[in-house]
Amino acid sequence: MVMAMGGADMPVVISLLNSYSGVAAAMAGFALGNVMLIIAGSLVGAAGLILTQIMIKAMNRSIINVLFGAFGASAATATGKSSDKAVREATVEDAAISLGYAQTAIFVPGYGLAVARAQHQLKDLAELLGARGVDVRYAIHPVAGRMPGHMNVLLAEADVPYDQLYDLDEINSRFSETDIVVVIGANDVVNPAANFDESSSIYGMPIINVQEAGTVIVLKRSMASGFSGIENRLFYGENTLMLFGDAKKSVDELVAEFKS
Ligand code: NDP
Repeated sequence: MVMAMGGADMPVVISLLNSYSGVAAAMAGFALGNVMLIIAGSLVGAAGLILTQIMIKAMNRSIINVLFGAFGASAATATGKSSDKAVREATVEDAAISLGYAQTAIFVPGYGLAVARAQHQLKDLAELLGARGVDVRYAIHPVAGRMPGHMNVLLAEADVPYDQLYDLDEINSRFSETDIVVVIGANDVVNPAANFDESSSIYGMPIINVQEAGTVIVLKRSMASGFSGIENRLFYGENTLMLFGDAKKSVDELVAEFKS
């Protein structure tokens, strides 16, 4: 059943398979005459279905499209090559200076944060900025990372205060009045192509509109694309600075700048 589905639909597929596993357990419960299995399976099935609904909304898709649309499969490979356009590269010192002068900052974590395991360092950085009077918030995209709620789990592990976490809908209107955004290993969830490029495999998916902020600092290792395999124009934006390197190392160095 999943062979027909495209790469960018993966969050929905994962939730749907969760639901199927519950339904299968409930069926087994009927076959074995085991009431506990029926109840537990039904609960897992229903929870998976609710999660599927949330993921479908996050991806702006319909279940029919997900099941039969092969969303993202072909366009991703067609546009996956890297571009020759110039990017503005920043050093850790440049990034620290920009952050030091900001009054409002929003951190946008993505899959790269999980790979680098930089959540604890990120919290330290937020605390140091907070102590200097910077209003720090985190913008959480529902499909950021590789599992539903991935970013919430990572940030909770680092004890990031819950009231600093904002969902896509809550925070998207704030970027135009935000001084600086730090994107930590996120790519697809901040790709503006989703807003305007009808040929893009992620067209229609709600994204975090970081490009509207005063300055955007992107922490990643290279110009490589994200999960959907498409180029991200954000990286070439006039207000974007690329800070290349492993996210944990970069955030560590930023923390050191503010401690010195
Ligand atoms: P992406 O996969 O789009 O991008 C992650 C970026 O992280 C990459 O571009 C990579 O760039 C960078 N990165 C990787 N390792 C590191 C590192 N050590 N340090 C710094 N950067 C690093 O992630 P997003 O979170 O933006 O988007 C999630 C994507 O995954 C979406 O397309 C979503 O549909 C899909 N998905 C989500 C699921 C879910 O349930 N949440 C499930 C399955 C798929 P570089 O290599 O240059 O460093």
